[in-house]
Amino acid sequence: MKRAPLPCIVLLGTGGTIASTAGAATALTDYTVTEGIETLLTAVPEITTLADIRCEQVFNVDSRGITNRMLLKLAARVGTLLADPAVDGIVITHGTDTLEETAYFLNLTTKSSKPVVLTGAMRPGSALSADGPLNLYNAILLASRAEAQGRGVMVALNDRVHAARFVTKTDTTQVETFQSPGRGSLGQIVNGRLHLNQHIEKRHTLGTEFNLAGIRKLPSVDIIYDHQDAGPHLYDASIAAGVQGIVVAACGNGSLSPQAQKGLKRAVKQGIACVRSSRSGSGIVTPSQDDGRRGLVSGDSLNPQKARILLMLALTLSHDRSVIQSCFDRC
Ligand code: ASP
Repeated sequence: MKRAPLPCIVLLGTGGTIASTAGAATALTDYTVTEGIETLLTAVPEITTLADIRCEQVFNVDSRGITNRMLLKLAARVGTLLADPAVDGIVITHGTDTLEETAYFLNLTTKSSKPVVLTGAMRPGSALSADGPLNLYNAILLASRAEAQGRGVMVALNDRVHAARFVTKTDTTQVETFQSPGRGSLGQIVNGRLHLNQHIEKRHTLGTEFNLAGIRKLPSVDIIYDHQDAGPHLYDASIAAGVQGIVVAACGNGSLSPQAQKGLKRAVKQGIACVRSSRSGSGIVTPSQDDGRRGLVSGDSLNPQKARILLMLALTLSHDRSVIQSCFDRC
């Protein structure tokens, strides 16, 4: 009996630990990016049973070095590939340090219901019990399944499937670092079987109003960490640098120190969009009755690094506080 054709998955390489090697098998840190995406693929021949794969190296860096320009380049490539009827899904290998930022950016800007899955590794490919090969296999498995469609961009690592909207890196070295605080993963992949158990209600992909067509440069947005005895000088520096947005990693439920309030007042007066996020690691920054008076936006459950991604995109639509707040309420 003729076998049904395998799905066509495009594998995009961007670098990261999954593409790195170290000097010894027991060296789990201090490594460098050395491998291309083709090498990662040939190291997992079992993937050929899941999908027909096309490889492309978009760039090959540690993810801490990814710029807004590189984000736009990656998003443009993803959009072009997904528009091809022959392409059924995309897997992106990426450094874990800023993986959640890229995943959320693509979650907001990809105009397709086809699966886009990001994966990476916490141990270099040269390490004992390297986690990259199985992460890559599982990411391809996920992207090749019909039930992965329409769920927004996902992250597959350490046998878990997470929504780009909620996932965050929670540990500096452990393989279980990716978690979705306050709501859990979308499911898991065990022994080659996919178990998905929830959808997300926040807007994503085709459901957002963001459109990158014609955008050559994203608005600049800074993140400022609030703390005891903070000074207003960092706000002054961001204002002087000409940023269009500031996200505050504020205390608790988005509470602002006296100096942060002073600094934000100066920023808002300069027309800078300002968002209250939280350094707490989980939970929702709830709207405050003071936000209207202060001209501030509450960041919902987005951590500061994701709030920056959303604020950049919201600023491509409007500088109006109520429009920006509605983006944070819905996406
Ligand atoms: N340590 C990071 C990783 O796990 C390096 C990076 O983000 O590129 O991938």
